[in-house]
Amino acid sequence: MNETFAAIRDYLRQHHVTLVAISKTKPAEEIRSVYEEGQRIFGENKVQELTDKYEALPKDIQWHLVGHLQTNKIKFVAPFVSLIHSIDSLKLLEEVNKLAKRNGRTQDVLLQIYIAREETKFGLSFDEARDLLFDKSVSALQNISIKGMMGMSTFTDDPIQVRKEFRSLKVFFEEMKSYRSENFKPEILSMGMSGDYKIAVEEGSNMVRIGSAIFGAR
Ligand SMILES: *Cc1c(COP(=O)(O)O)cnc(C)c1O
Repeated sequence: MNETFAAIRDYLRQHHVTLVAISKTKPAEEIRSVYEEGQRIFGENKVQELTDKYEALPKDIQWHLVGHLQTNKIKFVAPFVSLIHSIDSLKLLEEVNKLAKRNGRTQDVLLQIYIAREETKFGLSFDEARDLLFDKSVSALQNISIKGMMGMSTFTDDPIQVRKEFRSLKVFFEEMKSYRSENFKPEILSMGMSGDYKIAVEEGSNMVRIGSAIFGAR
């Protein structure tokens, strides 16, 4: 077994953290070898690549979508995707609900929260997320289940900055827990990638998205 993968997995098990192996750009054979080590949750950031790999690989894989999602592409993943990490608008949430209903499913999703300093990243501010969760039209969406939140830290060497960002999301996540409802059941806090997952776990993450540390550089 890939030693790095084994070490990451042991660390995450000790901390009761779920691993999403981010397999974007990697071929099906490489994913299959990680699958054969027992990994069952994989994540992709592009719809086309996700559907291709879903077709090619074993059906007991739980596929997560971690990248930005356009409304016109939801239909391709709606039949099978197990968790969408990147909900960043009410419109997107409504579209996901519509497609989930059409497929006879309840779609698990996370709200992507913007915690970084970079302009380039997607996501809702804390205020926007709060407004969305309190919006009456959300409680009418019967085919979605908002399971928690996802955040990405600033791409920086400064661990103090990264820790501060993760901590702010954890505080917000805890605050919103008291507003549980029929379709808002916050349990998952998805934060941490190859470069910062230990900081994320120390700050309360219970789901990490790790790509290059498992599969090698892209
Ligand atoms: C690519 C990606 C990851 C994994 O990044 P690594 O640095 O390779 O671990 C995690 N989350 C999202 C949203 C990504 O796009």
